[in-house]
Amino acid sequence: MKNTTVYYQSLLDFADNKLQILEDKNQRRRLQPSARSLHMQVNNGQNECTSFTDNDYLGLSTHPAVIQASMEATKLYGVGAGASRLVTGNNPLYGQLEEKIANFKGCEAAIVFGSGYLANIGIIPALAGPKDLIIADELIHTCIHSGIALSRATCHYFKHNDVEDAQRLLAKHRANHPNTMIIVDGVYSMDGDIAPLDELGMLARQYDAWLMSDDAHALGTIGNGTGSASALGAHNLVPLQMGTLSKAIGAYGGYLAGPKPVINLMKSRARSLVYTTGLPPGTLAAALKAFEIIEAEPERVARPLKLASQFASALNLNPPQSPIVPLIIGDETAAMKASANLAAQAIKVTAIRPPTVPTGTSRLRFTFSATHSDSDIDKLIRACRNLNLGN
Ligand SMILES: *Cc1c(COP(=O)(O)O)cnc(C)c1O
Repeated sequence: MKNTTVYYQSLLDFADNKLQILEDKNQRRRLQPSARSLHMQVNNGQNECTSFTDNDYLGLSTHPAVIQASMEATKLYGVGAGASRLVTGNNPLYGQLEEKIANFKGCEAAIVFGSGYLANIGIIPALAGPKDLIIADELIHTCIHSGIALSRATCHYFKHNDVEDAQRLLAKHRANHPNTMIIVDGVYSMDGDIAPLDELGMLARQYDAWLMSDDAHALGTIGNGTGSASALGAHNLVPLQMGTLSKAIGAYGGYLAGPKPVINLMKSRARSLVYTTGLPPGTLAAALKAFEIIEAEPERVARPLKLASQFASALNLNPPQSPIVPLIIGDETAAMKASANLAAQAIKVTAIRPPTVPTGTSRLRFTFSATHSDSDIDKLIRACRNLNLGN
C-alpha cells in the first residue's frame, strides 16, 4: 500500500526495492523469536527444539553461578554503566575481568570492549592507517572487514589458510608500506577450521608484520580453552589476540589481549572503546565468573569438540578441529529446506547462505555445547540420517 501523505516516499521505495532484490536472490533474512532456556532448548514460536546452532559452547549463558554473579552485580551497581569507560562507566569489575583475561591468555595485558564487533572496528584503525598494509584471509569475519575499511589501509586478501599466497602478497607489497598487519580468524566461524598461526607467525616475523587472530570461536573451545595461538604452540608469535565474551564465555563483550603498550594505546585511540557506554556491570560479573568456571572445569572445555567429533564421524564428515561442523548443501533453497526438515524433528540448525558464505556453499552449520547430553547427540544423528544428510 502506497502512503501518499509522507514526503519521504523515495525512502520507502528505496527500502522496498532493496528488499525485493534480496527476496529474488533468496537472501532476505527474517528475525524469528527464539526463547532459549537451559540445556540448549530453544522455542522458535512453533515447537521446542534442541539447538545445535548457537555459540554458547560451554553452556555458560545459563549456568546458575554465572546468573547469580550477574544478579548480584546488578543489585549492587544497577543495570547500566551510565557513561563511557573514560567518564564514570569504568566499573571496578572491568579491572578484575581484564586481569583475569590477561592471565588466562598468558598475555601482558587485556582490554574489554563492548562487543567483538566493536573490538575489531576499534583495534584495526587504531593500529593501521591509510599508508599501511593489511594482509587478511579471504574468509575473515565480516566485522574485521568493517575494521579494515575504517582504517583505510591497503588490504590484500590471501586464499583461505594458504600461507604461500600470504607470503606472495607480502613479498610483493610489504616494502611499499610503513606498517603491516596480518589478520586471521583463529577458528573460522562458518567452516570450523583453524588458522595456521604457527606458519603465519613465522611469516609475520620475517616480514616485520603484526599478526592478529580473532579467537571468537577458539576461546573456551581449543588449546585447553585458551584459544588458537596456544593450541598451535604459536603463543609468542601472535601479539594481538582478540576475542569475544559473547560465545563460549556466555555473556557479552569483546577483548584484546596483548603487550601493555598496545593495550594502553587502545584506551586513547580505539574509537569504539572511547566513544561508547561501558558494559552493564552484571555482564562484566558474568564474564568474570565464566572464566573462573573454565579454569576449574577442564572436562567442560573438552566436551564440545568431543561431541562434534562423534557427530562428524557418524555422518562421515571431515574430522572437526573445533566444535563447528559445516555440512555443505550448496544451493540456498535446499539448505533452507534441510533446516526446516530438521526443525520438524525438533532440531534447530540455521541454514547459512550467501553473502555470509560464498555462493554455492550454503550449508548447515552445526555447533556443539558442553551442555548437550549424549542422547541429544543420538537424536541429532538419527534425524540427519532420516533426512539423508551426510556422506
Ligand atoms: C561473533 C564474531 C565476532 C563478533 O563478536 P560479538 O561479540 O558477537 O560482536 C567477531 N569475530 C568473529 C570471528 C565472530 O565469529
